[in-house]
Amino acid sequence: MPKNIFELSSPGRKGFTLPTCEIDTPLEQFIPAKYHRKSIAKLPELSELDVMRHFIALSHLNHFIEKGLYPLGSCTMKYNPKLHEALVRHSCFGNIHPYQPESTLQGALELLYELQSDLAEISGMANVTLQPVAGAQGEFTGLKIIEAYHKAKGNTHKKKIIMPDSAHGTNPASCTLAGFDVVELKSNSEGRVDLEALRAVIDDNVAGFMLTNPNTLGLFETQIVEISELIHSVDGLIYMDGANLNALLGIVQPGKIGFDILHFNLHKTFTTPHGGGGPGCGPVGVVDKLLPYLPVPMIAKNDGGYFFDYRNEATSIGKVHSFYGNFAIMVRAYIYIKMLGAKGLRRVSENAIINANYLMKKLEPYYNIQHKEYCMHEFVADGTKQKKLNGVSTLDIAKRLLDKGYHAPTVYFPLIIPEAMMIEPTETESKQSLDAFAEAMIAIADECEKDPEMLHEAPLTTPVRRVDDVRAVKVLDPRFEIKD
Ligand SMILES: *Cc1c(COP(=O)(O)O)cnc(C)c1O
Repeated sequence: MPKNIFELSSPGRKGFTLPTCEIDTPLEQFIPAKYHRKSIAKLPELSELDVMRHFIALSHLNHFIEKGLYPLGSCTMKYNPKLHEALVRHSCFGNIHPYQPESTLQGALELLYELQSDLAEISGMANVTLQPVAGAQGEFTGLKIIEAYHKAKGNTHKKKIIMPDSAHGTNPASCTLAGFDVVELKSNSEGRVDLEALRAVIDDNVAGFMLTNPNTLGLFETQIVEISELIHSVDGLIYMDGANLNALLGIVQPGKIGFDILHFNLHKTFTTPHGGGGPGCGPVGVVDKLLPYLPVPMIAKNDGGYFFDYRNEATSIGKVHSFYGNFAIMVRAYIYIKMLGAKGLRRVSENAIINANYLMKKLEPYYNIQHKEYCMHEFVADGTKQKKLNGVSTLDIAKRLLDKGYHAPTVYFPLIIPEAMMIEPTETESKQSLDAFAEAMIAIADECEKDPEMLHEAPLTTPVRRVDDVRAVKVLDPRFEIKD
């Protein structure tokens, strides 16, 4: 990388040619004098090739799945087939407009209808709305549905939503935003929901229970039937955070084991390039009794074809996004599901689970793993051993991984595991790439013993060393200025 990657401007150099102006009147006459520039804009002066090289070089400073394994736990950073990108840009998808009449949108509506139905089948739910544009917005939508369900029954006192202490931060945030009170439940020694603790907080004020399954420790919540009986005994609803659905495809239908609502993260499980904040798509599925509350419009079908269905407008929680959500992500998910089929989807999850277990066993001799039983599609190792013996923190280990050409795992989450490193390799990694990643992790464990000082300094090879995370958020300054 050239050192002066942001200082490439050269006076007089151009990367454009404009056609000659066909209007004789000077443009200044159309624009009021007070808006006239007093001085020439200070813009970088570069050729097209300079600009191309600049952006290609920048892209390589970042980490992406095509560059190397991306074990960011719970985020499911799998490879996203390039065919999707070609098809989603096809003019038949790219050039349609949401204000077009339904009769001219039949193909797009059919795609959405099929996707709704396929997601309903995969999850065992009665129907699915595609509107929410993130997992977190799916949670908010689900909670508004819970609120509407209780309101319709006159149970406005139901304000409590229970969730385990392993929950993702968006869960309590969505609850608070939706006007509920969060009741946090301590996990048991196995890392699962503590049924005794749950019994102790169950009362008539319980509106619902939010659970990630498999949970953020990578463990399947085996007591879901008991949990479901307890919550349903007070007419509460059970929400499944479906961010970890990559472990269940074709194996478990959440709607058939007690869950009433769930969100999908299409960008995680069903392949859209993500990381960096979006866009996403967080469809929400519900069981029969909650159908009246789903956002409108749904996509439905009758003798005349496919149409935007507003029939539940009176009971619906309303719209949760402009138009119909993030259409392009739905197209990718549709292609992914249709190409893999039922058997292929099951193999996705089986391979995701095998890959995670293989990696966990490889790392077990070197890093502490609190919950050693077979995991689902991810597992949580931790740096407590290194911290205690060598004074090296999980942050140091994560930073050192960048030097070795890998993205870091999710660190310090879940909060209940000190020095946590949550690792999700996904099904798209080969045995060779898992071995190479394990070797890098093992080499770091060795460095922790031999050269702990170096680890405090890591990363040593990246263009930016340790960033001040707090400062980066508080005094963000993304402007570019030409130096005089
Ligand atoms: C990613 C994630 C979410 C939030 O989903 P977004 O699409 O990022 O809004 C919620 N819960 C868990 C467990 C997650 O991993």
